[in-house]
Amino acid sequence: MLKKLSELFDYGRKILDEKCNDPYLDSKLDVLILLSEALSVSKEFLFINPNFEPESILVEKFLSFLDRRASGEPIAYILNKKEFMSLSFYVSRDCLIPRPETEILTELAIDFCNKRDSSIFLDMCCGSGCISISVAYYAKKTKIFSSDISEKALSIAKINAKKNGVEDRIDFFCGDLFRPLPNDLKFDFIASNPPYISKYDEISPSVVNFEPKLALYSEDDGLEITEKIVKESINRLNFNGVLAVEINSSKGSDVKKIFCDNGFSEVYIIKDYSEFDRIVIGKKK
Ligand code: GLN
Repeated sequence: MLKKLSELFDYGRKILDEKCNDPYLDSKLDVLILLSEALSVSKEFLFINPNFEPESILVEKFLSFLDRRASGEPIAYILNKKEFMSLSFYVSRDCLIPRPETEILTELAIDFCNKRDSSIFLDMCCGSGCISISVAYYAKKTKIFSSDISEKALSIAKINAKKNGVEDRIDFFCGDLFRPLPNDLKFDFIASNPPYISKYDEISPSVVNFEPKLALYSEDDGLEITEKIVKESINRLNFNGVLAVEINSSKGSDVKKIFCDNGFSEVYIIKDYSEFDRIVIGKKK
């Protein structure tokens, strides 16, 4: 019978190393997170109290978390939370898990909006709402719109807007890309992390088996939705307005060309922390 923290820790690592089919698995870190969350204690507490014996109901809770992680489920879904831009977001399998790379796109939008007295911002394909909610939180003079095709994802975005105290600053729309938005509404900055995975791309089982397909995949070698967004954005931006989209790292030059072919100027590719092409940005002149 497992009782002490040190035993639970060793057992957890063994199970994950044996069973969890995730190429990015860090079993030590994952067990620390799951144990500290199940027991509602800090990670430091786990280190300095190896002989502590938690109540059996909390041990059960840890073991059920462990089971889910061993099946490949990402930690964010197990705990229903993810940090993004130093804010806390509720997440479930109805929305994509916010990624650190997306913070680069979000920071670009925040910098742009903070340099102006007021601006109108759109987060296209908002999912959990991580981009628009962060912009609302860090760029206080901005009016924010958010759109997503998934009603379930939008209800998560609304929960997150409330959780972060910005629900009065964001208007949410449900539908296919720009369709649900009022026709005469124009924006100063459009940001989008659209579905951009191609069915030919190899992606980790913990992504493909758990994250919503609607938020991941796009036809046309992953470019279909991005192309639609770029094409329509040129009519939806004010002069000197900016479109920035997150991209598949293998598609930098394709997406740059789509921007140039559709009337954008000053089109650049921006790299992520791993030096992969990650964002294409362009201006409407
Ligand atoms: N905007 C959300 C994110 O960046 C959702 C993106 C999506 O569903 N494709 O995480």
